Amino acid sequence: TDGDQLTWNKAPCRFCGTGCHVQVGVEGNRVVAVAGDQAADVNKGLLCVKGYHVGSVLYGKDRLTQPLLRKGDQYVEIQWDEAIDIAAKRIMDAPGEFAFYGSGQWTIPEGYAANKFMKGGLANNHIDPNARLCMASAVTGFLATYGVDEPAGCYDDLDACDVLITWGNNPAEMHPVLFSRVTDRRSKGDKIRLIDISTRRTRTSDAADLYLEMKPQGDVAIALGIMNQLIANETYNKDFVEKHCAFRALEDENPTLKGEAIGEDEFRKRIAKYTPEHVEALSGVPAERIIELAKLFADPDLRITSLWCMGMNQHTQGTAVNSLVHGVHLLSGHFGQPGDAPTSLTGQPSACGTVREVGTLAHTLPGGRVVANADHRAHAEEYWNLPAGRVNPKPGYHTVLMFDRFTSPSTGEGDIKTMFVQVTNPGQTLPNLNKLFNDKKDNDDKFLIVSDVYPTATTQAADLILPAAMWVEKNGIFGNSERRTQQWFKMVSPPGDARDDCWMTIAIAHRLFELGHPGMKDKDGKFLFAMQDDDGNDVPIWKWEHYYDINVDQQLFEEYRLFSRLKHKNLAPYEEYVKARGLRWPVVEQEDGSWRETRFRFSGFDDPFVPEGEDIDFYHSNTNDGRAQIWFHDYKAPPEIPDDEYPLWLCTGRVLEHWHSGTMTRRIPQLSRAMPTSYVELHADDARRLNVRQGETVVVESRRGSANFPVWINGRGKPPQGTLFVPFFDETRLINDVTLDALDPFSKQPDYKKCAARIRKL
Ligand code: SF4
Repeated sequence: TDGDQLTWNKAPCRFCGTGCHVQVGVEGNRVVAVAGDQAADVNKGLLCVKGYHVGSVLYGKDRLTQPLLRKGDQYVEIQWDEAIDIAAKRIMDAPGEFAFYGSGQWTIPEGYAANKFMKGGLANNHIDPNARLCMASAVTGFLATYGVDEPAGCYDDLDACDVLITWGNNPAEMHPVLFSRVTDRRSKGDKIRLIDISTRRTRTSDAADLYLEMKPQGDVAIALGIMNQLIANETYNKDFVEKHCAFRALEDENPTLKGEAIGEDEFRKRIAKYTPEHVEALSGVPAERIIELAKLFADPDLRITSLWCMGMNQHTQGTAVNSLVHGVHLLSGHFGQPGDAPTSLTGQPSACGTVREVGTLAHTLPGGRVVANADHRAHAEEYWNLPAGRVNPKPGYHTVLMFDRFTSPSTGEGDIKTMFVQVTNPGQTLPNLNKLFNDKKDNDDKFLIVSDVYPTATTQAADLILPAAMWVEKNGIFGNSERRTQQWFKMVSPPGDARDDCWMTIAIAHRLFELGHPGMKDKDGKFLFAMQDDDGNDVPIWKWEHYYDINVDQQLFEEYRLFSRLKHKNLAPYEEYVKARGLRWPVVEQEDGSWRETRFRFSGFDDPFVPEGEDIDFYHSNTNDGRAQIWFHDYKAPPEIPDDEYPLWLCTGRVLEHWHSGTMTRRIPQLSRAMPTSYVELHADDARRLNVRQGETVVVESRRGSANFPVWINGRGKPPQGTLFVPFFDETRLINDVTLDALDPFSKQPDYKKCAARIRKL
């Protein structure tokens, strides 16, 4: 900033995975204005109601500004040196009993530093991000189908599609600017058919030409039904399938994500039972609508885009339904041209960039690599200059297991003794909190370190609270849902003694180095995060006063960039992102020295890695022959079904005004006033039968716990009879005391979208 003069600079929005760019106006070390960025492809100057207020997230009255240490029932202020020393000594005492829980809101350098610290330094793979709870099934779906993660298409598909199908997805509220690309086209006269498949009406349903209400878990059956009709009527795209696809199914015994090859005949045999009538019985969607959907996919002249997010991912058959929807597109050949794409969206701003690409999941390494593979480990050791054998080949604990081992009431095997939580709020967002989190509050044997910007449900259980800088109080890089990597610079100082999360990780690592932990040294005996200035002088970045002497983000990013080339996820040099409003990888250098992004992956007309002359090439094919896999999965019943005792379905989710657990948006007065409290949506007939009135507070309860909510009859959408919907943004009413911790067997992602519940009057 320049004194009191207003200056503007670019940054991605802090909230959702859409990744809109904003222009941030700064005056006198304060963000005073935010505007949609006209130069940004993603949003073309538009923002949603959250984005227009994003500057206010910095200025809630209760920002954490000083490290706090729990002493009995009290917290006392301490200095950073002591805080870093306490954290480092807990880890030093038992490095294998330490876990790091991170986030899809970590910037790329933050996640990369945490990953290197754990997997390269401590040789400990117990690091997992909250994105496990929101998109792990999308990852397993992509891997099973294409052999590599992340969407082939991009947001440009929304500008070119004739048909948009939303599968359990409400982009009108959750990715509003993205959704506006479609409504904007419509308002200009473009004919786009919008079909919404969901368990409850939403604002997306209101905009749809056709709303198909399905029973919970019905999406699996619907995808199978479409494939059944394409095969039965011989209307699938034979040429595309013959050239580019193979058929696959789970092994009969000990099924794995790899599955086994089945021929087309076997696929035909298995899909035959999913007739439209059978699918109607499973999903509740009329048989003629299944036939209609199949006819759309049978039309080669249409361009069809599928969109999904939490509805298909937070699902005990999440891997299956993700793979099946990819399969519908592959079988019909609706793939690889602008507007023809199966596209999963992410909820967090860097769930793709920091989790999937940086590899912060418990089994992954940067660049789409895995710890279980010896070659992948060897590459990581080479790039990190570590002795051979440093990286542990055994995957660490995934999120639910990690918390189970930390709070340990169910297993009695609580081998995680210390946990560091950064940039996330598991005390509100884990499923079945009474099992997975709430016991920590009374367990003094366990030590919880939490870095955050505001007090949260998680900091309430913390032993050490570290005040964090956020958004434009630090440098950062995010990666959005369409493979777009976005950079920004620090514009204002954090309040009080709040500091960057990346600095915290490096400072703890350096304290461990001083304490003699052997993992904090590289092969040459140098500190794991040693960095130099342009003249080659060492800079002690673990001292806060020196952290901004160099651009730490840039140095970490350039190191991370080496990994990106190993699996065709090529990133450009840091300076290219400084100039751009994000670039979609793979980004490759041109003969004239410029860098070109890729919009349509695997498509010969755009992807630089598709061999000359090929229209499509799945160059990471699981079968090493350039083919994608069309999966068969059987429909399975939901993990818990309403019964006499708990007769209602419960679905949880988000609302337009609040972002995830509400930690940030509930501090923004305009958003808080617009949506002050969580609620339970209830069908009018259910309300009459249960004798509850609009606004009356009721108890929502399941076999696992309960919470109180005011009743909103019909709500913003309109749940079908027998279904409740509760948003999870409100920390004063924890719906995750009620939810179920049943997991998808492959992705280990919990199902927040369906469990059995009941309502009781207070
Ligand atoms: Fe921010 Fe998402 Fe709204 Fe865009 S759509 S302004 S990224 S919250």
